This record gives sequence, structure tokens and C-alpha cells, in this order.
Amino acid sequence: MLLSQINKGTEIFAVTDHLDVYSYMDYDVFTPIRNSNAEVHRLSEIYDGKCKVLSGVEVSEVYWVPEVYKKHTFDVDLIIGSVHLVRCPEHPEPYSRIDFSQPTQDWIYSYLELYFKDVLMLLDTVDFDILAHLTCPLRYIVGKYRRSVDPARFDGEIEEILRRVIKDKKAFEINTSSFDMLNDFMPSRKIIEKYYSLGGRLISFGSDAHVPENASVNFDKAIAFAKDVGFENICYFENREVRLLRI
Ligand SMILES: [Zn+2]
Repeated sequence: MLLSQINKGTEIFAVTDHLDVYSYMDYDVFTPIRNSNAEVHRLSEIYDGKCKVLSGVEVSEVYWVPEVYKKHTFDVDLIIGSVHLVRCPEHPEPYSRIDFSQPTQDWIYSYLELYFKDVLMLLDTVDFDILAHLTCPLRYIVGKYRRSVDPARFDGEIEEILRRVIKDKKAFEINTSSFDMLNDFMPSRKIIEKYYSLGGRLISFGSDAHVPENASVNFDKAIAFAKDVGFENICYFENREVRLLRI
């Protein structure tokens, strides 16, 4: 991943492996994060001057089992907060594994309502720096299963979340992994513009790469769009402190 970033000319990137806290009973979710962070520290010395590598973690579902998460601390540059599993009694599995071709339209809307509630719960309960991929279930519902969803139904919930992110001085991620599928970012251009209009200025980019080829994918489009909206900087975090980069 680092070599791919260097080839692409990326100056700074963060490794943020998943910490899906709720899965702690199924497998050891904590040790891989510590190993990942240790590897980042090792590589950052070797590649010093070529690319700045930051250590991080993407925490999700902490609020399902806060007592488990509280027992652990991580020495990282940044923490991303996200929702991968919605507290939905019928489908508690990650939304990436739900078959959205079958449920009724009403059920899909009720699922999304629960998703936005969980994002608010995340903001209420977890100390993190960047809110990741808001509206990510749409990548599956709309992108993969081609169901139509009117996002305007959730304007109120989304505005509440954006206001909270701004008030808490958290950064708002523009996730570029959806671009090839949806011809849009996650969240959408419309939501990013709303964030700006409400006074939000802290944006970060995430390619959600998972494989080296996708490192920083579509960042050129994200930079062009962010400038068009009026953003002057993107941000990253070092030792949990925000740093700005002029774009
Ligand atoms: Zn994620």
C-alpha cells in the first residue's frame, strides 16, 4: 500500500484498519490493530522523506459494547468513526452483506432511519477524529442492488449529523471509493455542499482502498470538487491533532 502511494505521488497517508468492536467475541479484533500500528511506525522510519505514513484505526459499533472498547487504548495519529452494522433486529450483520433486492421500499427506509440513528449514537459515545463514509449503505442499496432511494427523506437527520460534526470539531470524510459505481462521493456532492454551507471546513479524503491499486483512487476528482465548493484546505491528523493542507 505504501509503495503504491509513493508511486502515485501521495505525500501523506494514514493506515486505518477496521476495528469492528462488536465482533470481539468471534475473533481477536484488537491485536491486529496494534500490529498494524507497529508496522506503520517501522515503515515510517524506513520511508522517512518519501511519504509520511500515519497510524490510525477505524472504529465501528463501539456503542454496542462500550465496556469492551474502554479497556483498550491505541497509540495512533487518528481515529476514524464509522457504522458498518446497523442495530437492526432482523439484519444485525454488516450492510455490505445484506441482500437489499428483496425488502420492501418501506423496510429500506426504516433501515436507513436506524442507520442515521446509529451515526448519531456514534457521535454521542465515541471519541474520534473523522466521521467516515456517511450514507455508506446507499453504496449497496442503490449502487449494488439498484434500488431507488430518495435521500431528501433524510435531510433532517443528515443536517443534525452535520451540525454535530461541526460543533464537535470533527473532520468530515469525502470517501472516494463509491465514485466509479455511483458517479458520486460518499456522502454525495449535495451533502458535502450542505456541510460547507453550514460552516463546515474540516474535510479529509478517504479512498477506503483495501487493496494497493485503489490507494488514493479518485482523489484528483475530490480535490477539484472540494475547490469548486470553496474549501481551501484538506486536513489530516497527527498525534490526534488536526493539520491543514492547502489545496
Ligand atoms: Zn468503513
